[in-house]
Amino acid sequence: MSLPVSPSPSESPALSPALSPAVSLAVSLARDVDGVSLRDRAFSEMTTLRVGGSPAATLECATSTALARTVRGLDRAGVPLLVVGGGSNLVVGDDVSGLVAVVPVAGTPPSVVGVDAGGEVVVRAAAGTVWDDLVAWTVAQGDAGYGGLECLSGIPGTVGAAPVQNIGAYGAEVSRCLHRVQLLDRSTGELAWVEPGSLDLAYRYSNLKFTARGVVTAVEFRLTTDGLSAPLRFGELARRLGVSEKETAPRRPVRNVREAVLELRRGKGMVLDPADHDTWSAGSFFTNPVVEGEDARDAVAAKVTARCGAAVAGSMPCYPVTVPSGPRDGGAGGTDGGEAAPAFKFSAAWLIEHAGFPKGWQVPAAQGGTGRAGLSTKHTLALTNRGGASCSDIVALAVAVRDGVREAFGVSLVPEPVWVGVTLPE
Ligand SMILES: Cc1cc2nc3c(=O)[nH]c(=O)nc-3n(C[C@H](O)[C@H](O)[C@H](O)COP(=O)(O)OP(=O)(O)OC[C@H]3O[C@@H](n4cnc5c(N)ncnc54)[C@H](O)[C@@H]3O)c2cc1C
Repeated sequence: MSLPVSPSPSESPALSPALSPAVSLAVSLARDVDGVSLRDRAFSEMTTLRVGGSPAATLECATSTALARTVRGLDRAGVPLLVVGGGSNLVVGDDVSGLVAVVPVAGTPPSVVGVDAGGEVVVRAAAGTVWDDLVAWTVAQGDAGYGGLECLSGIPGTVGAAPVQNIGAYGAEVSRCLHRVQLLDRSTGELAWVEPGSLDLAYRYSNLKFTARGVVTAVEFRLTTDGLSAPLRFGELARRLGVSEKETAPRRPVRNVREAVLELRRGKGMVLDPADHDTWSAGSFFTNPVVEGEDARDAVAAKVTARCGAAVAGSMPCYPVTVPSGPRDGGAGGTDGGEAAPAFKFSAAWLIEHAGFPKGWQVPAAQGGTGRAGLSTKHTLALTNRGGASCSDIVALAVAVRDGVREAFGVSLVPEPVWVGVTLPE
């Protein structure tokens, strides 16, 4: 079998004759495993923030089997690896170099694998499928489209990463439609279908995030077939679709909902566009903070009142949620269901804006700002690469915003993306 490498190994400093053990293994995996291709890519090409060093080698895996065999092979040899989908939820340090990037790429197209008694279909998609391609495919099926994923239109990244942080937008979370997840358990090397209940799914969280528990190789979704969306729960979207306040559990044609979501997202720089620096981001950089108990909520409100006045404080978004009682490893947040203590969720974007960081804000030159990183000009929650930024530029911006919000309102913002080879200094 010839080795499908691009660019050629002889042109690549990372693949020079003195091969490191990681590169040697990557070369043999690409040679020996069907569906695995060796590439030479920098993290600045593989992430939407477009920053970060370079892996020792990159292995693209076109099938679930290829992905599982690659991860098993690297794990058995003790070679550090990072699974990279669309790189849209990753902050990679400038000095990262030794690990192997494992990239699931689109192989088998999505398909219907079952229909249940209630008429819902089960759709299976491979980990490397581009997420929005899957959503587009679901709404194009049949006469009127399958329902369930439409509110998640336009989210960058891959199907395999969707359960990892339980992607969500416009009042929906992917957990609502998950049927089963095919998971390679990295501690045993076994590949098996697992129930969503085993993933501790919560607000922008699962037990796959920030851990080496497993690699998702395929996902099944349970979708409706009447052409109508799931009930719309997000005011801005509902208004855009002409929902009146009197309607309970309003549903609309999935194709209309997808178009409306894409339009709203584009207006906020939340649909990838290489020509628009506002989309050179990791999406929402901080999770919406959750405080536990009414005293904590009132303390935030008092600080907002002191700084911005009662009228502004009165318009501050804040709503009750419940926080799962189990342990959480990283990731703040809450979920709209489940047991546990009363808690209150604030809007990170609102707090950032009212703490003195308007859209487009950059660290001033007098404080070491380089002009290469700044808040999106369309959304305060997106930290963006304005061109030529390094990871340290992004970190400096993140520190300034996080510290400014903490100083203004006593709220500690927690980053949403996964950090590799770099941390946000305290
Ligand atoms: C412009 C923009 C808008 C965004 N909007 C939203 C939004 O509305 N809602 C939302 O929830 N997110 C949003 N995001 C964040 C991001 O798109 C999602 O988190 C997405 O699911 C990440 O997918 P990815 O393939 O790019 O994952 P990556 O960034 O490549 O990886 C993220 C993490 O998942 C792990 N991972 C990736 N694939 C697998 C796999 N197959 N198995 C196990 N682990 C894996 C990685 O190792 C890493 O730890 C946005 C990002 C951007 C840039």
